[in-house]
Amino acid sequence: MQRTLIIFKPDCMEQRHVGNVIGRFEQAGFAIVGCKLMRLAPPILREHYAHVADRPFYPMLEAFMSSRPVIVMALEGEEVIQRVRDLLGPTDSRKAAKGTIRGDFGTDVTVNVAHASDSEANARVELARFFQPGELLETRN
Ligand code: UDP
Ligand code: MG
Repeated sequence: MQRTLIIFKPDCMEQRHVGNVIGRFEQAGFAIVGCKLMRLAPPILREHYAHVADRPFYPMLEAFMSSRPVIVMALEGEEVIQRVRDLLGPTDSRKAAKGTIRGDFGTDVTVNVAHASDSEANARVELARFFQPGELLETRN
């Protein structure tokens, strides 16, 4: 069983696609084990996006991600990390196939609906970045 960190990005919040995206995660059989609304400030964004913080697009990304409150969510399931990445599609929404979350709801390479962790190591670090240990609950029996 794995856990992964999801962020419903500002475009997803503004366009009210959250329910739809959660529906896809539920249909895939994943359990929500943590969920909260947060406004992400530049310091936590610089940490979360450290791997792209020196790229020319970073200021735009930071402005976008801090533009309104987002929902951060921890999902649990078998192979949830890769399976959620597959449900999302590639980073660039314009290249994402119809039927994927980014293909159906995304705008471009920056405005792309949701974040999802890309490896077990990153999932662990990202979950700890956004959730206190006591905020992640066991919802299976
Ligand atoms: N991003 C961007 N321009 C790019 C590449 C990435 O604005 O050319 C943004 C985009 O919002 C992306 C985030 O930076 O989701 C993190 O990039 P990463 O390569 O980790 O993509 P992801 O894992 O989200 O698919
Ligand atoms: Mg990434």
